[in-house]
Amino acid sequence: MKYYSLNKNTNEVRFDEAVIRGIAPDKGLYFPEEIPQLPASFWNTIEDLSKEEIAFTVMKPFIGDAIDDVSLKEIVADVLSFDFPVVTIEDTIATLELFHGPTMAFKDVGARFMARCLGYFLDKQDQKDEVTVLVATSGDTGGAVARGFYKVPGIKVVILYPSGKVSDIQEKQLTTLGENITALEVDGNFDDCQAMVKKAFLDTDITNKRQLTSANSINVARWLPQSLYYLFAYKELKKQGKADNIVFSVPSGNFGNICAGMVAHLMGMPVQQFVASVNSNTTIPRFMQSGVYKPEPTIPTISNAMDVSDPSNFVRVLQLFENDRNLLSQKFSSYSYSDEETRVAMKEIREQHNYIADPHGAVGYLGLKAYLKDAPKAYGVFLETAHPVKFLPAVEPVVGKITELPEQIASLMDSEKVAIPASNYEDLKKYLMK
Ligand SMILES: *Cc1c(COP(=O)(O)O)cnc(C)c1O
Repeated sequence: MKYYSLNKNTNEVRFDEAVIRGIAPDKGLYFPEEIPQLPASFWNTIEDLSKEEIAFTVMKPFIGDAIDDVSLKEIVADVLSFDFPVVTIEDTIATLELFHGPTMAFKDVGARFMARCLGYFLDKQDQKDEVTVLVATSGDTGGAVARGFYKVPGIKVVILYPSGKVSDIQEKQLTTLGENITALEVDGNFDDCQAMVKKAFLDTDITNKRQLTSANSINVARWLPQSLYYLFAYKELKKQGKADNIVFSVPSGNFGNICAGMVAHLMGMPVQQFVASVNSNTTIPRFMQSGVYKPEPTIPTISNAMDVSDPSNFVRVLQLFENDRNLLSQKFSSYSYSDEETRVAMKEIREQHNYIADPHGAVGYLGLKAYLKDAPKAYGVFLETAHPVKFLPAVEPVVGKITELPEQIASLMDSEKVAIPASNYEDLKKYLMK
């Protein structure tokens, strides 16, 4: 499989080069030259296949011979070593829980897959250069990346996060690992962190000294494996006889997750509709209405992992449908919800269904409900993208105190925070030049 840049001003590359580069030299996102089709035999027997078998079959055509079969099997088994349960909420609604990984967010899947691919490619290189992964985080990404790359040989990770603007649990996830993971606590907001990272990538003093790479969701190794858990949900629902008219509602920010689900559909998985549920950052629902793509300044919300006004992966969503908004709208709808509506939904899910959703999942629930109103035959699945304990300040005032912490989190709370304070770009540069 070859990958081309969506800006179309540079050469096609193999999977390994696309992963190592992250973004193409012409600043475009890499995109597979074709979406592989899986044979009818795969779809007919999917109930009998293990997670690992499904994952290998789906990922293999995207990776080609960039990773040998034995290693790819090991990588997917290692990456997917936790559960992806489909939990029934009401008659025709279930949630796909994506928070059973080490940092309790769906990003664990992509981050772990990317880390293992990069580790594999570095190991194959003759001269073993060290690579520095540099990321800015508003909370969730940093934890998943830190954990995914923890102790991967040849890779150092430097994470910038805005001081006082991530939850206590998220901060612990960023700052307590040690080893090859360093956290920089930035005196500023997320945009400041992101600006510092961008500047570092363009600073030749730094890039002459270190090979820098990013681990955000534009990397194909983070994006594509996210299609796998849609297939796990499909398998489960097919077993239960509920797979005829599935609607997936995906809480969306940069639109990498939903785009991966749509890739699974185009590979042959039957899905009636994808619903992109967003918060008050409404660029995409407005685009679907009017055809005008016009990002407004980002609005902070309680579902802050989706506070994105110019979603980087939306060009890929469009590309999957030949950049035709009408064609896209036959498989894709988008709805937005305010924080107030999100709180009401969390309360409703708690009181009527005895389930605690996090704010992102609650936005997904609302979008699903809206779509299902006019789709009586459909079976709806909203993705629970993070565990509610990661967003306690938003969740507890609505559903009450959560006293029991999951094991992954409880064990963190006693570990000591270690972070390097950074008040400006020079502090980051000083650290990277060391
Ligand atoms: C990152 C994130 C999202 C948004 O996912 P995208 O792939 O960027 O659309 C939603 N929910 C949670 C909890 C996240 O961490």
